[in-house]
Amino acid sequence: MAVKYEELVKNFSWDEVKTFYAGSPDGIMNMAQEACDRWADDPDRIAIYWEDSLGNTETWTYQKLKEKSDKMANGLCSLGIKKGDRVAGMLGKDMELVITILAVWKIGAIYVPLFTAFGPDAIMHRATDSEISLLVTNREQISKVEDRNPSFQVLLTDGITKDGKSFWEFVESFPDQFEMEPTNGLDPSVIQYTSGSTGLPKGSIAAHKGIYNLYPYLKYALHMEDDDVFFGAADLGWSNGLLVCTFGPLSLGIKTVVYKGPFQAEKVFQIMEKYGVTNFSYIPTAYRMMMAAGTDVLKKYNIKVRKFSSAGEPLDAEVTRFFQDNFGRAIYDHYGATEIGMIVNNYNITDMPIKPGSMGLPLPGYKVGLIDEQGNEVKQGQVGQIALDTTMGEGLKFRGYWNNPEKSSEKIRGKWLLSGDLAKQDEDGYFWFQGRADDVISSAGYRIGPTEVEASLMEHPAVLEAAVVGKPDKTKGEIVKAYIVLNQGYEPSDELSETLSLFVKNKLSKHQYPKEIEFIDSLPKTQSGKTQRFLLKKREYEKQANR
Ligand code: ATP
Ligand code: MG
Repeated sequence: MAVKYEELVKNFSWDEVKTFYAGSPDGIMNMAQEACDRWADDPDRIAIYWEDSLGNTETWTYQKLKEKSDKMANGLCSLGIKKGDRVAGMLGKDMELVITILAVWKIGAIYVPLFTAFGPDAIMHRATDSEISLLVTNREQISKVEDRNPSFQVLLTDGITKDGKSFWEFVESFPDQFEMEPTNGLDPSVIQYTSGSTGLPKGSIAAHKGIYNLYPYLKYALHMEDDDVFFGAADLGWSNGLLVCTFGPLSLGIKTVVYKGPFQAEKVFQIMEKYGVTNFSYIPTAYRMMMAAGTDVLKKYNIKVRKFSSAGEPLDAEVTRFFQDNFGRAIYDHYGATEIGMIVNNYNITDMPIKPGSMGLPLPGYKVGLIDEQGNEVKQGQVGQIALDTTMGEGLKFRGYWNNPEKSSEKIRGKWLLSGDLAKQDEDGYFWFQGRADDVISSAGYRIGPTEVEASLMEHPAVLEAAVVGKPDKTKGEIVKAYIVLNQGYEPSDELSETLSLFVKNKLSKHQYPKEIEFIDSLPKTQSGKTQRFLLKKREYEKQANR
């Protein structure tokens, strides 16, 4: 039975949420206890269906996860890892990685996720900044940094240890009992580097109680239920893949699918059918690729997904409608950031109306505001910066950036924790994303957010993706310029540029439409799939300077 959003907010109580957990967020709490050990008494309880692109499969129970991660925790201790040390993992969606992360938490050490597509500089920046003692990875990955003489220890999943053991021989050589470190709820559990959409990535610290802070998001926005089979395709190198898609469902004791392989629309449909996936979450680009695969592909599969969620970037109305038409279910857009968590969402558990293009309403248990430069809340309908009230409920989730007090304090304005993103609220309280504060275009006295213009362009059948930036202009300060990736079957031309400009002009307004359009093969993106508008804008400014 769907519930009303208003009732969810009214009846919400953190004290009640606390009773769900084995530990106490105000006292002793450990993420490995919550996401693994507490569910391990039942030998049949399935935690993970694992599959790779070669078709290898494994089924992991919570009991097996506990046994192997206990062994691994003993193994890490034998390498000298202790409470507070930083251990990085750089692997794909491997079970070796999942047990390593649990083992790191069991010791009270801090996990640093590294994405496998990172190059040498990206790896070394994060490894040095967080001063890791150990990197768990494989031969392919470590070859990227071997010539940098890294000072940390390395454990390879496909290599041989000093004692001549393979990774699994190493793990199996230790006892399957480990006394977990009684970490405090506020002790750091993860240093998660941000995506770097706006500059150098920052190491955001999450605490063990972060898993408890996630509860309302998992239960209401994703609407995870006991009988769900959850499939979250995001990589474990990112906050969403690590905390939301993997250890989130595990903390609720439910089944989750871990697929190791490149993203491919048809493969996703196959996995959904094979494991009877009921609950799915990924990023907008992936949903757009699933849409682009066409209805013929989709009709081949028997898909039982009842809940679709998207996060990470603005979700355009077109793709939401496609899912509504073909799956009988809209995609629910969720908004958040590494530092603040998922704070504005559409809730799969409710019967709230979905307004395509809007990211929904504040997360129960939190107070979200839109504030001006002085830290005052703006009037309804006006654009402000999304911020979290740190004095309310569980507002103070942010534990600062590792080794970076300056950037940490820039994140706080009075009682508010800043997101760096702009939005406005409509008369029903729904949030509408306007773009990152840094991406706003200033043209002839207007401040124009790129999001609305991009969403409007994507409504046109020719447009697959769009990024809108400010191009320097003598008279107007900046003009609106759109970079466009075309759908298959469309060719760049002046006529098409003209058509697209007019299309936006007629739908939005005279001041928002793109005065200039450039067709491009692909948009510059972070490895987590976020458009880096600042690079396109920089390009425009450099072109101007070189004239
Ligand atoms: P950096 O802080 O290093 O520039 P980043 O902000 O992209 O990188 P993340 O924390 O991974 O790093 O991403 C959070 C950002 O993603 C948000 O601040 C917001 O700009 C964007 N975002 C996330 N979800 C949504 C959404 N549903 N709609 C629009 N934007 C979103
Ligand atoms: Mg950010």
